Amino acid sequence: MQVPLLDLKLQYQTLRDQIRVEVDQIMDSQIFIGGPKVEAFERAVCEYTGAAHAIGVTSGTDALLIALMGLGIGPGDAVITSPYTFFATAGCIARVGAAAVFIDIDPQTYNLSVPALRRYLEGCQKNAEGQLVSHAGQVVRALMPVHLYGLCCDMDEILALAKQYGLPVIEDSAQALGADYPSKNGTGHAGAMGDFGCYSFFPSKNLGAFGDAGMVVCKDAAMAEKLRALRNHGGERRYYHKMIGGNFRLDALQAAVLSIKLPHLDSWSALRRRNAALYREGFARTGLDKVLTLPTEPYAASGLPNQHIFNQFVVRAPRRDALCEHLAKAQVGHAIYYPLPLHLQECFAYLGYKQGDFPEAERAALETLALPIFPELTPEQIHAVVEAIAAFYC
Ligand SMILES: *Cc1c(COP(=O)(O)O)cnc(C)c1O
Repeated sequence: MQVPLLDLKLQYQTLRDQIRVEVDQIMDSQIFIGGPKVEAFERAVCEYTGAAHAIGVTSGTDALLIALMGLGIGPGDAVITSPYTFFATAGCIARVGAAAVFIDIDPQTYNLSVPALRRYLEGCQKNAEGQLVSHAGQVVRALMPVHLYGLCCDMDEILALAKQYGLPVIEDSAQALGADYPSKNGTGHAGAMGDFGCYSFFPSKNLGAFGDAGMVVCKDAAMAEKLRALRNHGGERRYYHKMIGGNFRLDALQAAVLSIKLPHLDSWSALRRRNAALYREGFARTGLDKVLTLPTEPYAASGLPNQHIFNQFVVRAPRRDALCEHLAKAQVGHAIYYPLPLHLQECFAYLGYKQGDFPEAERAALETLALPIFPELTPEQIHAVVEAIAAFYC
């Protein structure tokens, strides 16, 4: 049985009529940039996440970029993040002229390791102005944790460190809109716990647009105003520019599609979790649970439904590359997120990292693969994936 890694057509079928009515309306209005559709979607994201302010932008990448620009981060500065994430996380740090400081990941969750982060911060000096200085000599300006695969980082710990060291937190929530975290202070929503949260609506994310789209949310009202200006070439008043921004505006068409989809997000996340549970059953039945390392759900005991939203279902597999070849022959979709950690990317050679600096990120890059997990996947398809993997190992 052929099993795709992702099939977006099935979801579209269920919303087709509704979406086409909205798209027609926009075509008739000829209001494409900003306007009521964008504002309505921004309000909907605030309501859904509990964030105070939301600014629709062109992509998840630009959401990260504009948050860094909002903080005025640039040359001479450093931002601490994970080496095991999509390129954009660190790419944006470099694009504003700052240095990415990588911290190894936790091997169970694949998220930033809190003990490693604490050790790094403890090893930083302060400069004459009292600013925190990175081990390489730049001023540490922010923390950028990534909620990878739809699982929140341990935010109580990260926010406590951020407070202790006076650093703002930008959550890369590109894979985690809808994920919840059982904080000591109540339920935390991915992206709305730190100072900034950045979402991506790239089609393969849990909430996918019909093209590129993103959003940045923030706590502070003055910062929200600044981000709104930055999104529009830095001008608060048309043709008058106090700052240099860019064209980071969200399209009305994308906002309309996303507004229709957002109310379904929780039910899609529930289906992803059902699929994860079916994989666990299948792997236990075939004994593969002793061969593969399955995703952990560290917050399961909290009882929060969205403790994991499985943007990806990632397993560690012995002889990973041979398994991938086997799955390709069996027409089972799979992917490696990510085959080369960011500290070893050619374009970051100037940062001075080397092989062996982040052993857990490097090991994850060699051992993991993602299996199909999209909501519309059928139990039969999951069975076929399990059988295909069983045929390889047994
Ligand atoms: C997808 C993604 C981004 C970038 O989002 P785009 O909308 O594709 O620009 C950033 N960070 C992470 C972790 C992502 O998965």
